[in-house]
Amino acid sequence: DARKIAERKVKKVRCDVKDRKEMRKLRKISREEYLKDREKKKLEEMRDEIEDEKYLFGDGLKLSELENSKLRYMKDVYEIVKKKKGLEDVCDDEYKMPEVYDDQFGGVNQEKRFAAALQRYKEVESGAEQKSWEDQQIGNGSLKFGSQDVNRNGDDYEYLFEDQIEFVKASVMEGENEEDMFDESSDGFREKERVQKLQDERKTLPIYRFREDLLKAIHDHQVLIIVGETGSGKTTQITQYLHEAGYTKRGKIGCTQPRRVAAMSVASRVSKEMGVKLGNEVGYSIRFEDNTSEKTVIKYMTDGMLLREFLGEPDLASYSVLMVDEAHERTISTDVLFGLVKDIARFRSDLKLIISSASLDANKFSDYFDGAPIFRIPGRRFPIEIHYTKAPEADYMDAAIVTILQIHLTQPPGDILVFLTGQEEIEAAEELLRQRTRGMGTKIAELIICPIFANLPLELQNNIFEPTPKGARKVVLATNIAETSLTIDGISYVIDPGFCKMKSYSPRTGMESLLVTPVSKASALQRAGRSGRTGPGKCFRLYTAFNYQNDLEENTVPEIQRTNISNVVLTLKCLGIDDLMAFDFMDPPPAETLLKALELLYSLNALNSVGQLTKTGRRMAEFPLDPMLSKMIVASEKYKCSEEIISIAAMLSAGNLVFYRPKEKKVHADAAKMNFHTGNVGDHIALLKVYSSWEEHNYSTQWCFENFVQVKTMKQARDIRDQLKGLLERVEIELSSSFNDVESIKKAITSGFFPHFALLQRTGAYRTGRNPQTAHIHPSSGLAYVLPKCVIYHELVLTTKEYMRQITEVKPEWLVEIAPHYYQLKDLQ
Ligand code: ADP
Ligand code: MG
Repeated sequence: DARKIAERKVKKVRCDVKDRKEMRKLRKISREEYLKDREKKKLEEMRDEIEDEKYLFGDGLKLSELENSKLRYMKDVYEIVKKKKGLEDVCDDEYKMPEVYDDQFGGVNQEKRFAAALQRYKEVESGAEQKSWEDQQIGNGSLKFGSQDVNRNGDDYEYLFEDQIEFVKASVMEGENEEDMFDESSDGFREKERVQKLQDERKTLPIYRFREDLLKAIHDHQVLIIVGETGSGKTTQITQYLHEAGYTKRGKIGCTQPRRVAAMSVASRVSKEMGVKLGNEVGYSIRFEDNTSEKTVIKYMTDGMLLREFLGEPDLASYSVLMVDEAHERTISTDVLFGLVKDIARFRSDLKLIISSASLDANKFSDYFDGAPIFRIPGRRFPIEIHYTKAPEADYMDAAIVTILQIHLTQPPGDILVFLTGQEEIEAAEELLRQRTRGMGTKIAELIICPIFANLPLELQNNIFEPTPKGARKVVLATNIAETSLTIDGISYVIDPGFCKMKSYSPRTGMESLLVTPVSKASALQRAGRSGRTGPGKCFRLYTAFNYQNDLEENTVPEIQRTNISNVVLTLKCLGIDDLMAFDFMDPPPAETLLKALELLYSLNALNSVGQLTKTGRRMAEFPLDPMLSKMIVASEKYKCSEEIISIAAMLSAGNLVFYRPKEKKVHADAAKMNFHTGNVGDHIALLKVYSSWEEHNYSTQWCFENFVQVKTMKQARDIRDQLKGLLERVEIELSSSFNDVESIKKAITSGFFPHFALLQRTGAYRTGRNPQTAHIHPSSGLAYVLPKCVIYHELVLTTKEYMRQITEVKPEWLVEIAPHYYQLKDLQ
């Protein structure tokens, strides 16, 4: 066997030579350069390995001692052994991650396995060392994806990329067998029968065979918890079943989603399945966009929108069923909805409540809803191989691109799903991928790139669901949205860099920032699961198994515990819930966070000193915006500039991408952008100028092109502005304009944003607010090189540094004039 392996490797070296030439041609580097570099890297790696081993297996360390620290030993041995090329096979079949290992074998065979590992290790140590080193040198020449058929497929393309990533197969997530999870409530079903109905897509979904049981359970219980694997049909089918069963005769069916994209996409799908026009019987409602009508009986909406509906209809009398979907996401709005719907269910016995979730841990929901029964829909999932990188990757974006190409060039057909953190990253990845594949021409199969993120127009969103043409491969670049909210069929490979964008909040400084944070194990598990829906899958985690075990949290912290809750507090106050400490939260927000929220609302004059809602507060609550933005709008009445302020608010809400900067026209783009910044007016006024000029040019698309402004963002801003205008009327604020009175406009902005104040320090950095923290002006700001003494900022983001985004220069006197209860002049100098 060993001989065979050796022979194979020799053959491999031969092909490698051919491919290396190819590679050098592609990368235009000299042979010497390449070899030198490679040699150096390998030597360094070897040295590290040897160091590691000494540490673990150094003199005097006996097996018995190792046994005393089993878990640690397992983990470390795993790391070391898998590094050893010669033992790669051992590692794959003999070692599981400690957790899996312990679960599966109950530790019974542990000793034997230790001994075997140690034995093999010793063989390598004594004499086999040199051979192993050579093997490693050779082995390094081939892509190691941990699966055997890779090399066969990959021969032609090896070495195309020098910066390839090595993966180690670590564990296999077992498939879920429907029969195993058979539910006692549904007997007599046969797999064959289900397969025969393939032509009717709806009927093939796992949920279908539970239709009757489900309807019965909903009929029998007022509150039902439903759990089922992503893609089983919860979101798209349950609403339709209920409609077919007549529930819509007494009122609407509302179904909440944590994400706008999901609400839109799912509504669009259901309208197609029902053969109706989107917006008629089936519609959706998301912030700033209501696509429903009188006719609508199935309404998908964001959880935040349902929360707002409570303001107008406190008992939600127009609904017969409420389905709080994706409950496992535990967004702040979902968490607050839990409390509110639980409450109305008590006095509306006709209302049906469904809480649905993709996570298997439903007991928490059941406990919260007074022991509501749990209905489990058995999943349908194929086994999934999990691969980790051998070593940590410095740049996960780059690693993701390389992995996509590696999969594309070496793996059998099947689409790829990549989890990135946001629109900017997705767009960058798309660009990079196009660059990298451009030079390859027909050498590689077609790669269809489909991005999906919150601001993508609905038409483009639907692209991700288009079946992939034969011979091509689809790569979906998605945010967290694809973790559980959207199901894309045909995905066989998942690339998980292990990060997501998450809000984090420090009650101490009162500062909120959107951080790129490692995902939780629960998330990583969900992500991996997306690859095994239509066949066996593979998940490539761009981090090491050690990272997974040691650095990831078990579960994502509910949003309510890591975000600024002032918005929600304002809504609850409006609903007459005065004692927030007594509110029935599933997981209450930290008391400190609650205090901060109350304090902010008080300083914005939305609450009075005893915590009651003021008139200003009531008006602010009408706007579906953060309290500081709503306060800015309400304050525009006093400064007679509501026209300008709603333009600014709309631009700020439309997204961060106002300007774009094509590579070949950087200079033009920068010049166009600076036009709006003339006189260092600050970013808020610049945004206003952009909007007004566009308006003057009749909302022209051509104008956007000429000025390097994103049409998409502008259109969105226009929609938002129209709605804000309507809301102004509701709170009886007159439209008034003082376009040329920049000071008044800035004062209105300051009225909302005075807590976001920052003062220039001698170092060139800024010190923020009342609870000082160091921050910098974001490079995209028009004031980035101006460095005014005293500024207010719209938001704080943490990327490489703490950055303030959207800056306006203010005078310290204004702050004292506008918020005398908050600032004194001596604090501002
Ligand atoms: P769940 O809510 O249980 O995760 P869904 O009801 O969202 O499941 O999805 C069920 C199935 O419907 C998916 O497997 C997918 O095949 C299909 N589907 C859902 N949304 C769309 C869409 N927008 N376009 C095409 N197919 C879709
Ligand atoms: Mg769903």
